[in-house]
Amino acid sequence: MNKKIFPRILFFAFAFLAITFSANAQYPRFKVLCFNNNEVEPAHREFEADAIRFFKDLTVGNGFVFDVTNDISDCNEEKLKNYDLVMMLSDQPHSPAEREAFKKYMENGGGYIGFHAAGYNDQSTKWPWWNEFLGCGTYYRNQWPPMPAKAIITDKNHPITKGLPDTFIAPANEWYQWNPSPCVNKDVKVLVSLSPDNYPFGLKDQVRDGEYPVVWTNTKYRMVYLNMGHGNRIFSDATQNYLIINAFRWVVASNKKGNVFGDPVPLKKIKK
Ligand code: ZN
Repeated sequence: MNKKIFPRILFFAFAFLAITFSANAQYPRFKVLCFNNNEVEPAHREFEADAIRFFKDLTVGNGFVFDVTNDISDCNEEKLKNYDLVMMLSDQPHSPAEREAFKKYMENGGGYIGFHAAGYNDQSTKWPWWNEFLGCGTYYRNQWPPMPAKAIITDKNHPITKGLPDTFIAPANEWYQWNPSPCVNKDVKVLVSLSPDNYPFGLKDQVRDGEYPVVWTNTKYRMVYLNMGHGNRIFSDATQNYLIINAFRWVVASNKKGNVFGDPVPLKKIKK
């Protein structure tokens, strides 16, 4: 081998390895702790199983860690501090210690994405901070049986809804209403609501009026709540899947470490 070329090859080999290692060092970019509950009703367990599969699929390439726990007592300070995002599929903190740990986590910049029954609360819940956090009152009523619904993007400029069509048909779900509605909370940004076109909505139990927000964020926290989460159809629609991924990305991207996904590539650059 030419004596002059060999050091060059060596240099490029080291440079390549250095770049490869520094690139790999960025992964995983963040950690998620997903709370699953095996004790909930069958339709909620169906959703949980689908959701875990859906989000685990997104970890391909070890972009992020997705840990699942069936134990709500993992909602403690020692555990939560290791995670950028807490996902609650159909449960919420119950004991005073779990509630205090969760509150502290959220008040210190923790991330939350909650689905469906995770937001359920009634007179027996007795946790006023939960209502403050969720940005609405207690569970009010639902339509029944689970049905698809016409959904409207109520804020088209938010990163979560950007690029979505003005309306879409959300797959079959049991849809909750709240009283008071999050629509009247000045700290809440409602992103998706069900259309009045659905009224009278339901067969056995009908909802005939009222605001029907189903996806929102309380701007005081790094959180998003989605009412989807009942049965095995939730991930059957590409538009809704896109919305769910956007919501997930947004909570992570708005973490205290800055935008972990980096800035989006400008369209002009892609065209060239
Ligand atoms: Zn349900």
